[in-house]
Amino acid sequence: MSLIELRKQLDNKEISAPELTRQYLSRIAKVDPQLNSYITVCTEQAEKAAVHAQEEIDRGNQGPLTGIPYAVKDIFCTKDIRTTAGSHILKEYIPPYSATAVEKCQDAVLLGKTNMDEFAMGSSTEYSAFGPTKNPFDLTRVPGGTSGGSTAAVAADLAVFALGTDTGGSIRQPASFCNVVGLKLTYGRISRYGVIASASSLDTVGIITQNVADGAYVLKQLAGHDPLDATTSPVPIDDYLNSLEKTVSGLRVGIPKEYLELAGLDPRIKERFLAVQKVLAKLGVGVEEISLPHSRYGLATYYILNPSENSSNLARYDGIQYGRPAKGANSLDEVYTKTREEGFGAESKRRIMIGTFCLSAGYYDAYYKQAQKVRTLVSEDFTKAFEQVDVIMSPTSPTLPFKLGERESDPLSMYTSDIYTIPASLAGLPAFSLPAGAVDNLPVAVQLIAPQFAEKRILQLGYHLEQSFDFPKPKLVV
Ligand code: GLN
Repeated sequence: MSLIELRKQLDNKEISAPELTRQYLSRIAKVDPQLNSYITVCTEQAEKAAVHAQEEIDRGNQGPLTGIPYAVKDIFCTKDIRTTAGSHILKEYIPPYSATAVEKCQDAVLLGKTNMDEFAMGSSTEYSAFGPTKNPFDLTRVPGGTSGGSTAAVAADLAVFALGTDTGGSIRQPASFCNVVGLKLTYGRISRYGVIASASSLDTVGIITQNVADGAYVLKQLAGHDPLDATTSPVPIDDYLNSLEKTVSGLRVGIPKEYLELAGLDPRIKERFLAVQKVLAKLGVGVEEISLPHSRYGLATYYILNPSENSSNLARYDGIQYGRPAKGANSLDEVYTKTREEGFGAESKRRIMIGTFCLSAGYYDAYYKQAQKVRTLVSEDFTKAFEQVDVIMSPTSPTLPFKLGERESDPLSMYTSDIYTIPASLAGLPAFSLPAGAVDNLPVAVQLIAPQFAEKRILQLGYHLEQSFDFPKPKLVV
């Protein structure tokens, strides 16, 4: 059931908050051993929170999220609840405070913390120290990543909504693989305070829901300036929900020709994508070809900037300030090296090495600085394109969910998963992934991209598309 529907039922006392929470907890107990979408389930806290929520409802004191069971990616700090970022190095870390985004959901009922690739590096949730999450539509396949625990949980009805983060595609790509709506917002729209940093100039907090209206509803609660995060923006928050039904007729949608020419694009996804274009035409939306000429350098640019920022952010895990020190070290140097050797997984080590190399004296100009310049060119492509069209649409992922293990030891093929999502991340733009049917019972999705802070526009278009789609839907196997 949708969040908005559940809100009504809670308010009308058709269901109680404790009853609702119990239903979700019992489904988690039954289904999650197959999926592994949660790292930590907060059974007792959730039951207590639900009782409190019901008291508020009984007093007529409820807020928009009161009593709604939800999940949080394990990269958000949660006071007194273990927060691992999917890493061994933080497996016993209990934060003394909660992230702002979690604080803003304090009336909702936190069911637990979801699985993810270590420090949000990966595209399949296989790079988690807590084992991979499985795709709820095919247990032999990945759910995507890095917010794969959150998307699998929402898809399998193990949470009404979930929080995730998206640095280069980590909400959109797993949303595509799990047939849920994934909102990646404008950089700075939602506070990152208390979110463990992966690549700070790219990291964004986002929302995963079963439908567009629920996403608009949650966004309204989370968006806005936060004095604790200097990168949040004071741009006013739109009335996302109440504008959804306004007509989209006359809107112009651009299709980047470079995206559809990509050799790795699965022809079955291309076919679905063309079917979505037809739906647009029916809605009175104009479709035209556009060009994003520098997007072909997006992936290469990202994989210099991202590891550079990863390497500097991961430097704080030294076994002293953060992370449990390794045993048997004989000197301070050995504490650092042993803790990091034992605590980090292979992908983290790879990015630390690449990033440290790119940032080192003598290479900085050739790699990091050069990549920053190309990032500007990628952004400028979007600025030009938005003079011609209102929204840009592309497939979210070039492939269907791949098999567990298929790309785990091949970082380059893993990296290509985000070829369509990375350019919008480099430009700090809002971009949403929207379910668009199925191929062989595997989900397919489209991505809608808007100018900075024009979330309302793509929510509206997404809502109309969602209402008009008549595509076969994939079926859950759990
Ligand atoms: N897959 C990309 C990476 O590995 C994006 C991850 C993310 O958005 N956090 O960096």
